[in-house]
Amino acid sequence: MNILLVNPPIPNKFKIFDYCDEEGRDAIRKRVLVGPPLALNELAGMLPEENVLIIDQKAEIDSNPSYDYIDELIKEINRFKPDIVSFTCLTAQYNCVIKLLETVKKVDSGILTSIGGIHPSSCPEDFVGSKADIISIGLGKHSYYHMVQEYKKNRANPDFTNIPGLALNLGDRLVYTRSLCDMSYKEFKENYLLDEVLPNRSLTDRYDYTIARINKRLHYISTSQGCTHKCNFCYLWKMTNGYYFHRNVESIINELKQMDRYYLIRFCDANTFGDIKKSKELFTRIIEEGLNLNHAYMGDVRTDTVIRHPDLLELAAKAGLKVTVCGLEATNDEELKKYGKDCTTDTIREALKILNECGIYVNGNFIVRPDYEEKDFEGLARFIEDNPIYNAALTILTPFPGTEQWNELKDQIVEWDYDYFNLTNSVLKTRLPEDVFYKKISEVYKVSAKSGRKFMEMYGEKNQRAV
Ligand code: SF4
Repeated sequence: MNILLVNPPIPNKFKIFDYCDEEGRDAIRKRVLVGPPLALNELAGMLPEENVLIIDQKAEIDSNPSYDYIDELIKEINRFKPDIVSFTCLTAQYNCVIKLLETVKKVDSGILTSIGGIHPSSCPEDFVGSKADIISIGLGKHSYYHMVQEYKKNRANPDFTNIPGLALNLGDRLVYTRSLCDMSYKEFKENYLLDEVLPNRSLTDRYDYTIARINKRLHYISTSQGCTHKCNFCYLWKMTNGYYFHRNVESIINELKQMDRYYLIRFCDANTFGDIKKSKELFTRIIEEGLNLNHAYMGDVRTDTVIRHPDLLELAAKAGLKVTVCGLEATNDEELKKYGKDCTTDTIREALKILNECGIYVNGNFIVRPDYEEKDFEGLARFIEDNPIYNAALTILTPFPGTEQWNELKDQIVEWDYDYFNLTNSVLKTRLPEDVFYKKISEVYKVSAKSGRKFMEMYGEKNQRAV
């Protein structure tokens, strides 16, 4: 069976470009993520007997803005003759996915189409009336494998109704199969994580996932699923019904041993440090196996974890953790409370100091609220200046479908085009005039660059290996 898996383009629409200078534009361009579509590598890993092809249109268009994603898909379908075409989909990819689905059916209406990922999981009803035959909801490895087996066995009249985690598109409505969220922790863990099945990374090796500044290749690895927390703007914890699963450490080590060709390895988890005992075990084993010698690691960590377990971060740094991403979110306790972050600004200050001292580069994210006034931007800039880190980045508060914040704020959305749901645009009305709002953001980015230079002066020599 020929199976085509597609990572669609992200339109990269930035309203701020209309208002900021070149320095501000540079800061935004840095936000464009380079990285493989690991979820598609994972689906391919489930299907070693099939002829699978992955095309990463996001990578294509990022390197060549004139790449025509519709035309290229048509060419690929005519050449590869897929039986199934499947897409992964973030909210910002939604409009492209709808067009791509229409294209598939126009070229050959007999091809089975499916979609999965965060947006279809959080908002399956957005696909009623689309050309997607099947919508995968939640973690997709198990559902996708069984969907392919059923289609192989019974091509003329497949029956997907017994496969959990799907919505079947009847044109004017969806029919849902058993939800993964109805399952107990035990059932989920035993049958649906399938951690031992490793991703097939070779299918995306032709793409250039290189971090330009250091000219090193990057790949992702998953070490856990779900999260121990429930922030109100986040959907990741809902993907696993609020359960947190840390993967078997030896299985992670086994996978890392097969990742020699990538220097920078990003733990692409919601929460790599959600199980302290297992995290310690993982970093200890990385050191024992010498997997810290030719790799650098990058992962997300919560600031409250850092201050409770500084010894764990020291161990992680020894194991090669060179970069962390921290959702710092806010510079006052009231806002932190609103997000359900379960920490204070003192926690953040202390955690940043510990990470800096450990020689770990921190990429910290702050949320800018559309109702920010001049004084709020000043407070944010002051905090960034006073607490230097490698890179302080800004995301604009965006209520994503399926989150609690969506329920709270969806009535205030003024920009409904999902192309703009990439965290750099305000989809809610700004309190300041729009041009002033974006100019303020670009000014804070300049403060961030200055603060980054201060960080390098203070802590640069602690980092023995550039990443
Ligand atoms: S934002 Fe981070 S810590 Fe909060 S629920 Fe999502 S993954 Fe967990």
